[in-house]
Amino acid sequence: MRRIGVILNLALALLTACTAVTPAGPPNTPSPTSGSPSTPPSQGDGADFAGQRERMVIETIERRGVSNEDVLNAMRAVPRHLFVPEAEQTRAYGDYPLPIGYGQTISQPYIVALMTELLELEEGSKVLEIGTGSGYQAAVLAHLPSIEVYTLEIIPELAESAHERLGNLGYAHVHCKQADGYFGWPEHAPFDAIIVTAAPDHVPQPLADQLAEGGRMVIPVGPPGGYQTLWKFVKQPDGELQAFNMGGVAFVPFTGGGMQESE
Ligand code: SAH
Repeated sequence: MRRIGVILNLALALLTACTAVTPAGPPNTPSPTSGSPSTPPSQGDGADFAGQRERMVIETIERRGVSNEDVLNAMRAVPRHLFVPEAEQTRAYGDYPLPIGYGQTISQPYIVALMTELLELEEGSKVLEIGTGSGYQAAVLAHLPSIEVYTLEIIPELAESAHERLGNLGYAHVHCKQADGYFGWPEHAPFDAIIVTAAPDHVPQPLADQLAEGGRMVIPVGPPGGYQTLWKFVKQPDGELQAFNMGGVAFVPFTGGGMQESE
């Protein structure tokens, strides 16, 4: 039996990862024109993506309590609009998830930042992500100082396009593989942290096994298609997982044979 530890209550009763919520800012606020020129020009819509990112961080992430400077810097730096389909680029910095094809979604920016902060990564940490999707979460992780990132994606087309995108955007050092993440990546275990961005109905045992002692796993667990609970687990010296309930979330289902076979 897993020991349930301290339960932390967030001010937010319901965190939405893959369910649309009302954008934080007025939709037609003009973008500042004096932002950094380091992002590519937009597709003729006059948007300033660096300015939008800064607003996203201040209004939807910092304001909700994410305070780790490295995480905030990564959220400021990674060009989220280049991880979503072109038709969604102008909405890339909104306070909601977006479709990325194949029935999958890129999580709301706040959820990406929160989950990243909960991993408590330090320089030199090795982190495994299950559910590469667009590659955005992996890029955010790779942007943290001296973090080694491994990421698994079950849908071959997404795995391939994310790998290519990460390479093109300067994140070629992220290790990508197409595989059922239920089984983790044993060749590179143990991991200091594991982040799961699709929702299984139980914690995959191989992932628990591949977590280092003292390691953190952040994972939504619950029924597919509904709301789940976002858990942070910390692996104890005796191998048990101490559990922290971080609130309600809605993620796309964790698929693949591994989970079905284990039931
Ligand atoms: N982290 C992603 C978004 C995740 S959406 C991003 O930043 O864009 C969840 C992803 O998990 C989907 O791409 C889905 O195909 C993948 N997935 C679901 N079950 C999986 C499994 N068993 N192994 C690996 N990936 C899985």
